[in-house]
This record gives sequence, structure tokens and C-alpha cells, in this order.
Amino acid sequence: MPWIDTHAHLQEHRFAADLPAVLARATEAGVERIITIGIDLPTSRSAVQLAAQYPLLASAVGIQPNHVSEAEPGDWDAIVTLAETDPTIVAIGETGLDRYWDRSPFPLQEEYFRRHLALARRLGKPVIIHCREAEADTVRVLRETIAADGPVAGVMHSFSGDAATAEQCVQLGLLISCAGMVTFPSNTALREIAAAVPADRLLIETDCPYLTPVPVRGQRNEPAFVAHTAKLLASVRGISPEELGHLTTANARRLFALSAN
Ligand SMILES: [Zn+2]
Repeated sequence: MPWIDTHAHLQEHRFAADLPAVLARATEAGVERIITIGIDLPTSRSAVQLAAQYPLLASAVGIQPNHVSEAEPGDWDAIVTLAETDPTIVAIGETGLDRYWDRSPFPLQEEYFRRHLALARRLGKPVIIHCREAEADTVRVLRETIAADGPVAGVMHSFSGDAATAEQCVQLGLLISCAGMVTFPSNTALREIAAAVPADRLLIETDCPYLTPVPVRGQRNEPAFVAHTAKLLASVRGISPEELGHLTTANARRLFALSAN
């Protein structure tokens, strides 16, 4: 079964002691590619380093909205230089808007979101969008930049919004990625949304080490567990896990221009 984990944070310290074993378990579970994602300049640099070291990995670089107020002068320029030059980078992000944690002033979050969108567009790479309790503003910024500068490819990662937001994002050309939250018993609405995403717009991810899916909740999340989320998604969409694997893997290869391993 080919799976692609489109969103992981393998540079987190919780993987420092056993990353080779984590990657071996991913391969054993059928994961053919993992995108490891930066949230600031140091983790973007380490994403690129890990992807250079392990062929199973690709990388994404960016400054996540909760970290934009900590960015030093020069950090953004360093992200741009990395994105322009490093061959392991398949996407820009993660970026986006977040009112849940409210760690950075919202206008600064929006300014950085727009910078990431412009960089992604300029380099012809997809953008990875984090959105938490900021759906209307995320759609507004996307609409404004798309109207002004043209389409941008990308994904709403670890989608947690409502059905209307999912539909608006699909209309804007984005993909919708489901993480372990979709397996949590209380998330009926999210399962209904996941069931309705058009087949060519659906992605899967772990967002590990966070959001561990049922039935392994309580453990550290890792890429091998993407199979649990995928099986749940297959059942809510009324297709086999094989079909779900083929379609989400094809979608991820297309969006991130990944070669088949
Ligand atoms: Zn993330």
C-alpha cells in the first residue's frame, strides 16, 4: 500500500533518539514519502538537512503563524534563499493564520502569510496552509491574492474548519488534508467533510508528533500511523483502503511534484 505522509515534523526533539527506527517502521507500513515541515528558520534548516540525509523525506520551509513574532531580522531572507536553492524543498510553509493560540499579532501573521503565498507563486511551488479559528480571514487573503496575482497551488493542512470553508478552499483550487483528528470519536462533522472532499483534492498526513490517530492515541504520533487515518477515511468514503491509498498518493505526487519511488 503506498501512503504519503504529507505533513510531519521529524526534526522535533521527540524524534532525535530514534528517527532511523521511525523511518523503518514507516517504510514497513507502506509509507513511500514523508514531507517534513519547518515552522521557523532553525526547523526549516533541519528539515532540509534531514531530507538530504534520508531519501524517504522531502522538505518544506517557512515560518508558522505562531512563530512569526519570534522571527529575527534576516530569517525570512534566509527562508527565501533556502527555497530558491535547495533541491529537497517541495513546498513553502507551513504558513497561515491562527487565532486559537494567538501568539503573534494578527496583522503580522497576515503579512507573513502573504509573503509565503507570493514566494510559492514566484517559485511555482505549492503552499502548506495552517488555519486555526481563522477560516474567514484565510479565505479572504487567498481570494485577494488569487484575484490580484493569479492562482496558487496548495493544501489546507490538518483541516479543522467547517463544510463551507472546505468547499470555498476547493473552489480556490486547494487540496484538503486530513490528520488524526478525523479519527477522534467526537469529530463526526469532520468525517462528513472528509467524505465530501472531491477525490482529486484529498490528502492525508500525520502532523506527527502531534494528533495521534485512533487506535494508537496516547502514543507519540509517527508517519507509520498515517495508515490508521487512511483506513478510517476509506471507510467514511465507502472505498477500499487500497483505493484511498492510490488516490491520495497520486494527489500528493501531483501537488508536490514528487517522483514515484
Ligand atoms: Zn505542522
